[in-house]
Amino acid sequence: MRSIGLMGGTFDPIHIAHLIMAEEVRAALNLSEMVFIPAAEPPHKAGRHKAAPHHRLAMVELAIASNPHFSISLVELDRPGPSYLVDTLRLLRKEWGTDVELSFVIGWDSLEDFPDWYQPAEILAQLKRLVVVRRPGYEENPAYDQQLEARLPGLQQKVCQIPFPQLDISSTDIRRRIAEHRPIKYQVPEAVEEYILTHNLYQTVTESQ
Ligand code: ATP
Ligand code: MG
Repeated sequence: MRSIGLMGGTFDPIHIAHLIMAEEVRAALNLSEMVFIPAAEPPHKAGRHKAAPHHRLAMVELAIASNPHFSISLVELDRPGPSYLVDTLRLLRKEWGTDVELSFVIGWDSLEDFPDWYQPAEILAQLKRLVVVRRPGYEENPAYDQQLEARLPGLQQKVCQIPFPQLDISSTDIRRRIAEHRPIKYQVPEAVEEYILTHNLYQTVTESQ
């Protein structure tokens, strides 16, 4: 049975917290591979301060190049319209067969939104586990966990929390830093920083950032 980790995100741009969490989860759960799935452009998020999908993809490629356990799936970038995770999982299962178990990795901020995702119960049914890592600003709160379970029965049973050194790094902050000419060194892999500079990405900042 193949045991695959899935790391979804906008990766606008990919940063070291994404990479560290992917590797920590892979090692902790002994997954054979970790597949990064860059999201297609969500219409409401489109804006001039964001990078085009081909740039986001190129940066993920550069960032994961040195890890033989990491790969990329174009399953979301290749299809038009909003990509719902439930459809993505169905497509991946078609591609990989039923003899795989899937672990989807998210940060704590995404867990809070998870019950509002499209067909969350279906998503859970497709997953072996929903792997969650802590993120600064999203504190542990048992009462809140209960609320999440009430909003989506069965959620806690699938949630698997992996110890993770909390890293206060986000793509939003990185975009803002670039626009304000502040350093991003060490927050993204060197090759990603070079790519951002070469292609003049994220030079303008808007209030929505
Ligand atoms: P943005 O600020 O543009 O939303 P982001 O840093 O949140 O970017 P995403 O591409 O939105 O990055 O995140 C992809 C996944 O990685 C999400 O599940 C998110 O919760 C998780 N993630 C990103 N950064 C961290 C972090 N520093 N700690 C824990 N999880 C993180
Ligand atoms: Mg985010």
